[in-house]
Amino acid sequence: MPDPDSRQNQQNPYSHLRPPENSCKVDNDSPYGARLLVQRAFKRGDLILPLVGRHAAPSYKTIQIGLNTHLEGSLTAFINHSCRPSAIIMTQEIAIRAWTDLEAGDEVTFFYPSTEWAMVRPFNCLCGAPDCIGYVAGAKYLPLSLLSRHPVSPHIRQLAGDVLASFSYASTPPR
Ligand SMILES: [Zn+2]
Repeated sequence: MPDPDSRQNQQNPYSHLRPPENSCKVDNDSPYGARLLVQRAFKRGDLILPLVGRHAAPSYKTIQIGLNTHLEGSLTAFINHSCRPSAIIMTQEIAIRAWTDLEAGDEVTFFYPSTEWAMVRPFNCLCGAPDCIGYVAGAKYLPLSLLSRHPVSPHIRQLAGDVLASFSYASTPPR
C-alpha cells in the first residue's frame, strides 16, 4: 500500500520540516485579526519554526524567500508585520527565528520589507513603534537609509543593490 503522504510530499518540498511541538498557535480572538503567538519562551536567535509551505504566486498570504520565489504555508498568513519585530525570517534555511527574547503568549512578528520587495497588498501600519514606517508596501519603497537599519534578506540586499547600481552620478543635479 502506498504511503498516504507520498503524493503530498512530492508537492511540498518542505513537508519533511515539522514545527517544533507546541511552539506556536494561531490566535483568532485578537481585535486586529488573526495572529501567531508563541506558546513558550524563546531566546533571541532560537528557531521558532520552519516555514512549511509551497511555492506560490505572490499574495498577501505569501512570504518572499528569493528573487522570484514566494512561499505560501499554513501559518505564513498569520505572521503579522511590526516595525519593532519579535522575529526574523531566515530565507536560506526557510525558517523563522526569534529576533528578541520572547515569553509565552508574545506575538510573532517580522518586518515585512525584510523579505518583501513590492507587496501585493500594502497597508498602513498601526504597530505603534516610535520608528514606525507608516505605509508598508515593500523594501522597494523604503529609503535605503531606513532599510539598512533592519536585518534584510539576501534577495532584498541584492534588489536594493541593483537599485543603487543603476543610479548614476549623471542623475544627480550639479552643485
Ligand atoms: Zn509600524
